[in-house]
Amino acid sequence: MAPTQDKHSSQELLQAQVDLWHHTLGFVKSMALKCAMELQIPNTIQQHGGSMTSSELATKIGLHPSKLPCLRRLMRVLIVSGIFVVHEVASPDKDVIYGLTRTANLLISDEVKSNIFHMLSLMLDTTTIAPFLSMHSWFLDRHSMSLFKKAHGLDVWEMADQDSSYNQQFNKAMVSDSNFLMDIILRECGHVFHGINSLVDIAGGHGGAAREIAKVFLQMKCIVLDLPHVVVEAPSDAHVSFISGDMFKNIPPADVVFMKWVFHGWGNEDCVKLLKNCKAAIPPREAGGKVIIVDMVVGSGPNEIVTRETQVLYDLLIMSFEGIERGELEWKKIFMEAGFSEYKIISVLGVRSVIELYP
Ligand code: SAH
Repeated sequence: MAPTQDKHSSQELLQAQVDLWHHTLGFVKSMALKCAMELQIPNTIQQHGGSMTSSELATKIGLHPSKLPCLRRLMRVLIVSGIFVVHEVASPDKDVIYGLTRTANLLISDEVKSNIFHMLSLMLDTTTIAPFLSMHSWFLDRHSMSLFKKAHGLDVWEMADQDSSYNQQFNKAMVSDSNFLMDIILRECGHVFHGINSLVDIAGGHGGAAREIAKVFLQMKCIVLDLPHVVVEAPSDAHVSFISGDMFKNIPPADVVFMKWVFHGWGNEDCVKLLKNCKAAIPPREAGGKVIIVDMVVGSGPNEIVTRETQVLYDLLIMSFEGIERGELEWKKIFMEAGFSEYKIISVLGVRSVIELYP
């Protein structure tokens, strides 16, 4: 019998199958990156002068020789993904030589250089991933508990308060992100900090951002406020002072309130409450009062697929903590509801933006 004539050609069906396989295998990509980071592959290649053969790499990271072919397969995935490069094509008598790309350089865990190793480690940690395994049942739940709390019995701030290793991991991740991003913010839009006499970094963690600002604007008085379990472990700094407290109860007065990566963790009602507290803490616009927000504006930034996809993926990630990544109209709504008059979005930070908000 002749096959039934389908509306779709074989090639279209196969392409649809590849698209779904590619989507489904997204987790393998994440796990390959996690594995390379945990095996310290970027650091090992860098310490070897920036390139090394697969056998050298296997020996250096302490693999049993039987694992060498598997290491090559892991590296092949990360090469196809653009994280490592091959310097020399293997021939039967030559070992393949791996090198680093600009992307891999950001994975080199180094206390001095800016990198995003600790941030990615947190994003790839079991505590972050596990809630997603029961996302479908969370959708069907009738209660409003977050996906994170459903999986762990605690919300993220309760976990940071009660589990000191999670607290350390979380704060280290934030400092690593701030060191990386503030350097770029100060280069690309440092003007937003000009002329400020005092700045309070609300929910500033261990002060990663405030330290970078204070290094450049020496005359500025910088204060960081965060929860007690965070502040107690913050390294002291000659130019930045730390206050422990609850931002929903008290925001110390300053010319400018700075908030990086805070609003995306809270629902609209809490954000409006926070913004009203910010407004009460700053002077009028004519006297230099403003709020500087660093967060995502979904739909802003480079108009290409990787940025767009990363923004909506991050939104789903932060949804597990009861957070939300907002588009411009959603931001505008909470700004106006809190009584602010004008805002300016500066989209020069890839997936994130700087927002200047005026009372
Ligand atoms: N702004 C920092 C940290 C962002 S993570 C950075 O970008 O690096 C969010 C921060 O909010 C955490 O440090 C957390 O401890 C803090 N936080 C959560 N609830 C808070 C509250 N009620 N009052 C003050 N800080 C709070």
